Amino acid sequence: KIAIFWFRRDLRLNDNAGLYHALRSGYKVLPIFIFDTNILNKLENKQDQRVEFIHHALSELQRSLSKLQSSILIKKGEPIEIWKLISEEYEIAEVYTNHDYEKYAIERDKQVGELLNSKGIAFYTFKDQTIFEKNEVLSGSGTPYTVFTPYSRKWKDTLNEFYLKSYPNEKYFNHFLGSEILHFPTLEEIGFKESGMNFPKKELREELISKYDQIRDIPSIAGTSRLSVHLRFGTVSIRELARKAKVLNEKWLNELIWRDFYMNILFHFPHINDGQSFRKEYDNIVWRNNEAEFKKWCAGKTGYPIVDAGMRELNTTGFMHNRVRMITASFLIKHLLIDWRWGEAYFAQKLLDFDFSANNGGWQWASSSGCDAAPYFRIFNPTSQTQKFDPELKYIKKWIPELNSFDYPRPIVEHTFARERVLKAYKEALDKK
Ligand code: FAD
Repeated sequence: KIAIFWFRRDLRLNDNAGLYHALRSGYKVLPIFIFDTNILNKLENKQDQRVEFIHHALSELQRSLSKLQSSILIKKGEPIEIWKLISEEYEIAEVYTNHDYEKYAIERDKQVGELLNSKGIAFYTFKDQTIFEKNEVLSGSGTPYTVFTPYSRKWKDTLNEFYLKSYPNEKYFNHFLGSEILHFPTLEEIGFKESGMNFPKKELREELISKYDQIRDIPSIAGTSRLSVHLRFGTVSIRELARKAKVLNEKWLNELIWRDFYMNILFHFPHINDGQSFRKEYDNIVWRNNEAEFKKWCAGKTGYPIVDAGMRELNTTGFMHNRVRMITASFLIKHLLIDWRWGEAYFAQKLLDFDFSANNGGWQWASSSGCDAAPYFRIFNPTSQTQKFDPELKYIKKWIPELNSFDYPRPIVEHTFARERVLKAYKEALDKK
């Protein structure tokens, strides 16, 4: 009999909790990955960078495993169907994997667990992608925090060496199942094509992070870690990064805590997974939802340079600087009075680092409907944001070379007018309560 480790958003061999426990189980371990067609079939663009990133990370895993005379098994299909097949094909004693906090994943894991258990196979799951999960950081009265500052305080108070320790997986690498290389599908066999895009490097630039608090808000500087995609797919370990963050820069540690915070919110308030506002009264807002204006926003043609630069950065690279994510999101919602869910879905399509919890958290923050969100009457002024964060227009000019020519559109809406319009719409919705 063997044990199986099921990779999902934890694509690394080192410091991987579930894999560590599998390797110590006393059985030889076969690692597997399933390209989940429930997810893939929803992706319209077959040049999806995320699928390509996963494929790339799996090739790296395969390379390391083949040096250990082992191999990864890769499948494509509905996870439950794949598990039925695998459990017939192999003599399995135990299956190991890491927790995932999205509603779909929780339900999927429940079904897979039931299936495996019904066949006498144990199914073990572990915390790996966050420092704290579920009920590990709760308020004094035992309820989940919905405001970041007290959450982060308690997070820091609860932290000790134990939570930051790496799992020494490498000690047990000889417990992988000996295997010749199993079929490794090409990206085309998965149904996708290469985009030719470069992925951000995996390394943490420590000298940059030590200045993070001073440069993180300036979009013309590459002043942030650019590790989001690696955190998304677990090609880096959160424990290793949090350990370094503690020494290098408190402000950067805070960002990692935001990540934990939103994952915890998702776990405790799963209604946000169904397209609902965190604060339900915000679902009374009557949106304008003008499709032509939405298209202009998507294309970076609103006539507001900082907004357009951000959208063009996103469309071209799959990344957008955090400050500009806040500005573009706020603009769509508050200046154009378009439902934040439209913007959330657009970001979900385009962001290489797309993660439901962080993206939903960011959008609900901007729409003021989220936990610990900006108050609704606080409306970003794109002009003053530009003066503050891109005063020499360096970022803007990089993305909008035609800025000073007739080709660049006039502003889609006047700021003061838009501001009054949105305040009225929000007030009416909230008065209905
Ligand atoms: P750094 O500044 O170096 O931060 C380090 C890490 O901390 C990030 O890689 C990320 O994992 C985490 N982090 C930082 N800020 C946040 C935050 N506000 N919430 C949660 N985690 C955070 N982040 C995503 O990872 N995926 C998304 O889909 C996503 N969508 C967003 C949508 C909106 C509207 C907004 C305002 C923010 C969104 N963010 C999202 C958060 C943030 O913008 C990105 O994490 C960050 O820009 C990634 O760049 P970096 O890796 O250089 O971050």
